[in-house]
Amino acid sequence: MPGLPHPVSGRLFVSPVPVASGWPDDPGRSGAPVAATADDVRRLAGQTTDVTDVAAAVSTCRACPRLVAWRETVAVEKRRSFAGEPYWGRPIAGWGAAEPGVLIVGLAPAAHGGNRTGRIFTGDRSGDWLFASLYRVGLARQPTSEHAGDGQRLIATRMVAAVRCAPPANKPTPGERDTCAPWLDAELTLVLPSVRAVVCLGSFAWDVVWRALARAGLDVPRPRPRFAHAAQVDLPPPAASPPAPASPPAPASPPAPANCGKVQVDTPTQGWTFLQSQGLTVLGCYHPSQQNTFTGKLTEPMLDAVLGEAARLAGVRNNDQVPGSDGVRD
Ligand code: SF4
Repeated sequence: MPGLPHPVSGRLFVSPVPVASGWPDDPGRSGAPVAATADDVRRLAGQTTDVTDVAAAVSTCRACPRLVAWRETVAVEKRRSFAGEPYWGRPIAGWGAAEPGVLIVGLAPAAHGGNRTGRIFTGDRSGDWLFASLYRVGLARQPTSEHAGDGQRLIATRMVAAVRCAPPANKPTPGERDTCAPWLDAELTLVLPSVRAVVCLGSFAWDVVWRALARAGLDVPRPRPRFAHAAQVDLPPPAASPPAPASPPAPASPPAPANCGKVQVDTPTQGWTFLQSQGLTVLGCYHPSQQNTFTGKLTEPMLDAVLGEAARLAGVRNNDQVPGSDGVRD
């Protein structure tokens, strides 16, 4: 079957796009193992040692039969307005800075957005809103994100989806959420040392983030905080979380406290520990879906306020948008 031209590069691709065939920013590695089951996801996620490893392994995953069938069917059938374009049709990897100050967590790729363009929040109306706001607050180089290869870059920011494949009706099942969780766990663990703000777009992402932070060993509040727009929960650094006992003298080799902001992980870097010295803030934000933006439930100032607060927490200033620069910690 002849391919269709990529909107930026003009190169021809069939849909879904074969691994490492030249698609802009394709993180996949030809010949690498492909996850076909939930056990595979756990095993391969546990072997990753940096975010490019995670992206490579995620981008070929086939562990959820219903989602694989859906993403590939959509990629072949296409929406009429995109009939002349190739569709990515594979999982959407995390994208952005390798050592971000801000981590943005969404629900799942859109069938004709990320599933078409191969980049998270790219090519749909939700992404239009999100990237415009990121640009306004200094977290993106350009105000739009339309195609992989368009020059867009995030500044000190990384975006991930809780579920990495487009689901029918934007609704993954709890089983699909759990099957995909090890990819998020691996990526979250790798970026936690630099992250100061986690922005959860919608209640699904909010729930997933708290579960993942708990699995990563953070001392998360119980009961879990309720989702709300502009909700802000500070996870304090060790010095500020439960006060140290007044006396008794410490033994010669005191065991480390179980919690107090200490992140201990089994995967992907077994035995690795990280003492989070600057604290972490989790922010809630209404998802910039058309359902919310058309109805006025989410306005541009509301979105800018949350993302601007995340930028402030991460120490990113608006004038960090220097052409050719990815800002701090990229
Ligand atoms: Fe793999 Fe996640 Fe996609 Fe399921 S949703 S096939 S676990 S990438």
